[in-house]
Amino acid sequence: MTATSFERGLGLAPGVTLHRFVHPYFDANAWLVANDAHAVLIDTASNGDEDGARVADFVARSGRALFAVIVSHGHPDVFFGVNALRARFPAARFLVARPEIADDVVAMADTMERYGMLPSPALSPTNLDYRALFEVMPPEGVTLPGSASVTLRPWVTSAPSEFTRLTCLWMEAAQTLFASDLAYNHVHAWAGLGVDRAALVSWLGLLDELIAAHPGPEIRVITGHGPATDGNVLLAQRAYVGDLLALLDAGVRGEALEARMAARYPGHAGTGFQLHMTGTNPAWEALAAPRPAHEPSQETA
Ligand SMILES: [Zn+2]
Repeated sequence: MTATSFERGLGLAPGVTLHRFVHPYFDANAWLVANDAHAVLIDTASNGDEDGARVADFVARSGRALFAVIVSHGHPDVFFGVNALRARFPAARFLVARPEIADDVVAMADTMERYGMLPSPALSPTNLDYRALFEVMPPEGVTLPGSASVTLRPWVTSAPSEFTRLTCLWMEAAQTLFASDLAYNHVHAWAGLGVDRAALVSWLGLLDELIAAHPGPEIRVITGHGPATDGNVLLAQRAYVGDLLALLDAGVRGEALEARMAARYPGHAGTGFQLHMTGTNPAWEALAAPRPAHEPSQETA
């Protein structure tokens, strides 16, 4: 295939386009930011080497030289494509915003291996040296070669939310924010294993920080899940996390929690996976049961 058969993508800045690869099961995105010659891939939208090969095909179809792959956080759907991508694009740099993100990746791959959930031995930290693969990007970010104005500047969350640490990327010249999994666009957000009530509360604060740090709802926002949108998705995610907290604090659990959130967000994808994992998250068992409603006594009044 030639570059001309590659989808046109969204115009981000003069000569710079944005292309989306979607993993159908997780609705997870890998975003390719490209100019005429070079490209940067954000996340891998993969659940193993086969998906990784599909993402590699997608990048190859663009006809651009893959300059870097940025891994935003340590969730498997974000990093499971790196093995296939490094095999296809040996010249590409694999970047994380903090060394701790490489540690998160190793810890997640270790955990999945321990529970027999690793898709292939090649992705085990004993066979793939993630810490050697990943390079820590400078705090000012990375610039797309040939497009001096297009710099992806990282901001790493300071408290657990959807995951221990998430990397957002701001492209000032393109007025485009990659919000990672701090926001899901019309997809139920992950609030499964690893997310507790404190993380939901800090998630709200991090969204407030992100909203305050950027110009306004007219910016373009690209998320870890769902199509490209604008800054209103940050407010929508705030409402979503707030609704989930309110239901949990009202003692709603399990299937009832899933049903209430599905009814509240009828257009959202991810009911069978993300929302189901929210409903079955063992962290909610540790929460205090809501106090029974006080029944005023007529006799002693
Ligand atoms: Zn995630």
